[in-house]
Amino acid sequence: MLGSPGAGKGTQGKRLGQKYDIPAIGTGDMFRAAIENETEVGRKAKGFMDAGQLVPDDIVMEIVKERLKNGDTENGFILDGFPRTLGQANRFEKNVLQVMGLSLDAVLYIKVSKEVVVKRISGRRKCIESGVMYNLALAPEVWENSEDKKKGHRLRQRNDDKEDVVEKRFEVYMENTVPLIEHYKKMGLLREIDGEGTIDQVFERILEAL
Ligand code: AMP
Repeated sequence: MLGSPGAGKGTQGKRLGQKYDIPAIGTGDMFRAAIENETEVGRKAKGFMDAGQLVPDDIVMEIVKERLKNGDTENGFILDGFPRTLGQANRFEKNVLQVMGLSLDAVLYIKVSKEVVVKRISGRRKCIESGVMYNLALAPEVWENSEDKKKGHRLRQRNDDKEDVVEKRFEVYMENTVPLIEHYKKMGLLREIDGEGTIDQVFERILEAL
């Protein structure tokens, strides 16, 4: 899954994973879990993440390699937010895919205007108790009517979803990740998806494109 911050990579990746019964592996999710569990990787990644910068390639490559050894990826897997640099893409191809005898089937590039993603990100919240994602900007009624709210559960905003950090993440995306679009186009793997509209609409487009 390729796309800017807030394009919907995580949401759509998880849905695709459920549909095909394969894991959706989000490197950002893995780093957030590592921070929560106070691991060595989490400690190394936190400063970069909070500043909206990329975690160094060596650390990213290591967690991806480790994750793919889990044994649950035999029928396939979805990567969300990885690779994010040309360096990661090349190392992934040579040191991981080729070594494991695997190849990518498709790269889904989810395209959304900056205006739309800024709004999405500003409303994005996660329930601390249940882990369910809500969007207070786009669908406040879902939260208002939720079981989580009734139970008095709390919402949390990601540190890097605050406005100034979001700007930095966009800069980093433009500079480091956008070149991957051309890279995968040349390899014939790129599928461009219009990422605006509802979650269901975008999901339908993805299924058509696959
Ligand atoms: P995400 O959840 O995909 O938005 O990622 C959140 C943050 O985790 C990013 O802003 C980076 O700091 C870090 N991160 C996630 N994936 C990568 C990656 N492939 N390369 C470098 N940093 C990453």
